Amino acid sequence: MIIKTRFAPSPTGFLHIGNIRTALYSWLFAKKFQGSFILRIEDTDSNRSCSKYSTHIIDTLNWLGLKWDEGPYFQSKKIERYKDIINFLLEKNHAYRCYCSKNRIIKLREQQLLKKEKPRYDGFCKNLKIQKNSTHVIRFKNPQNGTVIFQDKVRGEIIFNNSELDDVVIQRSNGLPTYNLCVIVDDYDTKITHVIRGEDHINNTPRQINILNALKFTVPQYAHLSMITNEQKTNLSKRDCLTNILKYQKDGFFPESILNYLIRLGWSYKNQEIFSREEMIELFSLHSVKKSSSSFNLKKLLWINHYYLNKISINNLVVLFNEYCIKNKIILYKNIDLKEIIILFKKRCSNIKELVKSCWYLYKNISNYDTNLLKKYVLIYKKEIFLSLIKKFLELNNWEQKNIVSFLKKYSLNNQLTMKDISMLLRVILTNSINSPNITSIIILLGRKKVLHRINFIINAYIKKV
Ligand code: GLU
Ligand code: ZN
Repeated sequence: MIIKTRFAPSPTGFLHIGNIRTALYSWLFAKKFQGSFILRIEDTDSNRSCSKYSTHIIDTLNWLGLKWDEGPYFQSKKIERYKDIINFLLEKNHAYRCYCSKNRIIKLREQQLLKKEKPRYDGFCKNLKIQKNSTHVIRFKNPQNGTVIFQDKVRGEIIFNNSELDDVVIQRSNGLPTYNLCVIVDDYDTKITHVIRGEDHINNTPRQINILNALKFTVPQYAHLSMITNEQKTNLSKRDCLTNILKYQKDGFFPESILNYLIRLGWSYKNQEIFSREEMIELFSLHSVKKSSSSFNLKKLLWINHYYLNKISINNLVVLFNEYCIKNKIILYKNIDLKEIIILFKKRCSNIKELVKSCWYLYKNISNYDTNLLKKYVLIYKKEIFLSLIKKFLELNNWEQKNIVSFLKKYSLNNQLTMKDISMLLRVILTNSINSPNITSIIILLGRKKVLHRINFIINAYIKKV
């Protein structure tokens, strides 16, 4: 048997971390058994579907390297096929037209809720003799007795009583088929062997199995993944910006770290945190997927991304750095040594956005100084200090690490300053902050011209006036 799985998102919003974990697990399961992975876009709800989201789904899977072997199939292109199936179900008396008005359904629901009953359709139209020509939906005639049992690959045996299930709508009043119908037709047509999806679909499963049985279609295996909650412990939604995948792509996270983060969110192998793609495929199993929900933890994702940021080659980082700047219209000084800058900063950063942000004073001018910092660390010195700094910097022959270090030592001694004083003074002038990598490296990377320019700027803009 060839294992076939699918990822079947509805294009009604941007993908979030939870959707992507479903895609990843389905992909891994197929790859593990040399099977195929199918992409299907469930876009029959024409009011809510939007082609920009379909494009986003395709782009995201490509970006993450979750390549599909078949598809993308669009359900909206298969309406005729679904209609044939619906007609077949009608003919075989497995389905019927329901003419109930919205109003009746709402009232029925209210009454049931009042009686503390589970809201469900009461089968009013099931045995209607006459077929009218008015607006109607089509419902599947769910068996009334017996049970539906399935072995969920994650959760074990699951049993539903048919008496709990009402007659699900399979065709809307606008003539379009519904999710529960399309999903089983497509899974059957594409020979899906394993349906791996979110646990929010568990309640749909017995209805889908009943429709499959009515059609004498093979029933696939199921694996329902538990939910991922956000940091506030509520279920993720497409509007959850913290877990929106676009944000991570934009901020320069790596596909590898997203996948590593996600595989561990609900699955584990010993205490291992970092897995190569090959290891993921080799080690993943549905049996080790946990049943309880997992909560999204940004810190951990940052930790994994930091790992990859410090692992990939410096040449790749230079490319990604430049790409980020172009996308965000950041213009860099010409002739900067981006490689050295990145080497100096990457240990302190978790993603490309942070990397670009944290070294900004090495690629553009400081236009606004923080006056509090200036007051505390710079303006406490007399003008002579700055003038002699400039003079000594000009005299410095070699702009090299060891010369700068001994220069700073000598200069601080001669001027009764500690090394800390002089470092902070220069740090504020050169970086407009009190946190930076060691000041010697900053001086070297900025170069003599810019160092002098910044000291001069401070003299002209602030010292003269004092
Ligand atoms: N389109 C459904 C969703 O986005 C998935 C249905 C399924 O996997 O069966 O939740
Ligand atoms: Zn009805």
